[in-house]
Amino acid sequence: MKSYRRELTFHTNTRRAYVNITPDIERALAESGIKEGLCLVNAMHITASVFINDNESGLHSDFERWLEKLAPEKPHSQYAHNGYEDNADAHLKRSIMGREVVVAITNGKLDFGTWERIFYGEFDGMRDKRVLVKIIGE
Ligand code: ZN
Repeated sequence: MKSYRRELTFHTNTRRAYVNITPDIERALAESGIKEGLCLVNAMHITASVFINDNESGLHSDFERWLEKLAPEKPHSQYAHNGYEDNADAHLKRSIMGREVVVAITNGKLDFGTWERIFYGEFDGMRDKRVLVKIIGE
């Protein structure tokens, strides 16, 4: 069995962002040389997510509004976590959107459903944050 590991770094210019990282994962898969197996992609930070959904900007606006209703960023004082930090909302948003995805690899490709794409969800950005890609197989 082959094993491949790579860290990707993302730095968004806004506190919250939704980034289509599918091309980055496809490059990693090509570099791995693995044709059959599994690909894990996870955020290495507890205020960011990796998730699979539609690459459609209206939906991303809907995610943003929905998450702000569930866990509004402000006022920062509404959260017990916010003492030295102001990112309690980001922890909560990440919990809803998830930590990782696993995608099957078939014939050297990510074996997606028709509209599935991989996204990095940033909830406390404007700094370097890492995503782990681990691929195992043959
Ligand atoms: Zn925190």
